[in-house]
Amino acid sequence: MSVSIPFVLSLLSPAQGPLPKPLDLAKVLARVTSKNLERSVRDLASFGTRHTFSTTEDPKRGIGAARDYIERRLRAAAKRSSGRMKVERKTYELSMRHQGKKVRVVNLVATIEGQQEPDRVFLVSGHYDSRNTDRKDGQHDAPGANDDGSGSAAVLEMADALADMPLRCSVRLVLFDGEEHGLWGSRQEARDLSERGIQVEGMMTLDIVGNTEGPDGKREGSYVRVFSYLKSAKGKASGGLDAPGRRLARLVARAADVHVSDFRVKLIFRGDRYGRGGDHRPFAEQGIPAIRMTEPLENFGRQHQDVHPKNGRPYGDLPEYMDFGYLEKVSRTALAALLEQAQAPRPPRRVVARVQRDLSTALFLLPPENAKGLAGYEVVWRPTTEARWKKARFFPAQGKGSPSSTRGFLKIQLKDVMLDDNIVAIRCVGENGARSLAVSAPERDL
Ligand SMILES: [Zn+2]
Repeated sequence: MSVSIPFVLSLLSPAQGPLPKPLDLAKVLARVTSKNLERSVRDLASFGTRHTFSTTEDPKRGIGAARDYIERRLRAAAKRSSGRMKVERKTYELSMRHQGKKVRVVNLVATIEGQQEPDRVFLVSGHYDSRNTDRKDGQHDAPGANDDGSGSAAVLEMADALADMPLRCSVRLVLFDGEEHGLWGSRQEARDLSERGIQVEGMMTLDIVGNTEGPDGKREGSYVRVFSYLKSAKGKASGGLDAPGRRLARLVARAADVHVSDFRVKLIFRGDRYGRGGDHRPFAEQGIPAIRMTEPLENFGRQHQDVHPKNGRPYGDLPEYMDFGYLEKVSRTALAALLEQAQAPRPPRRVVARVQRDLSTALFLLPPENAKGLAGYEVVWRPTTEARWKKARFFPAQGKGSPSSTRGFLKIQLKDVMLDDNIVAIRCVGENGARSLAVSAPERDL
């Protein structure tokens, strides 16, 4: 039996065997609250500007003071981690100059080491630098409450929520510098991780995620947009609709459905907003599954603006124009997606699909190398024109209904699925109910 996915998703589909209950994240998600997020955003905005060229000497104003604040917050969280969370300030000197000196960017990174598979790394980011109308103005106010105090606050709350939580894999929480100038901080981080051989399995950036009021005053707070690049994995065949970022985007969409009430993800099959970019780009360029989360209706009247009077009140990217209840939902969605991945077994190493003589579908999969805690495999499929998985069926790793073994592969048969008309994928399900990314069979189109 298979069940239609929307809402309860595949949770109720007993299929070929007992499906583990979904990952229980209620407690950890409840730690991320609108109140805490608001406090963090207000604190970040209180530094006046966090422009990359702003002062680093003043204890109360500028990017230097903001950096010290972020580091203090991360270190406070790390104290509760029994030594598992490490906080780093990573400074890079760039080749370009400002006022005769080489530009420096400083990323703040908190890494929580996984207890079972520390080499598997999942990264979540926001950027803490800000700007006003003039991209090079490091002097005047650029409060950056929403862009990107919102994403930065989400990352800080995640650090607090995860510090003392047992994790299967490692989680890297990053606050980037220099995003507004050309993704300076994220480019350095992506290169550094790659050079050190650290394989990031998933990357999400939260950027502009705390406003629900569009330019015409209408509000939309029922969903978050998730952008993903078409870029395929390095050296692999074209990823197409199942490119690495799109796989992750679907996982994020499911995380909202399962773990966050009255909230959903709108998948946008475009790398970023039209003609623009963000910190997920350098990771996507390496073939890493990377996505960006952004609110539905950006308000350009507030972003990248000088703070100016309007109707007798200051106007610009200020905390008073944000919706912290909305920011809470986006932050919980990101945290749920992060934990689905970081608590799940690895995805299948490879999936191959074949149409059978009777028009049924045969799937062949190479199980992950470390199958510890693996309950089984969930086959998901959708018509080729659909964006999201529509059906799911579970096959336990052991016992009745488990896949048969053939020439090193595990074989699963779907009698009622026509491969020509569907995209079929397999994700691994942990005994704890956590789902990996779904891996589809490669497309062999022209
Ligand atoms: Zn931004």
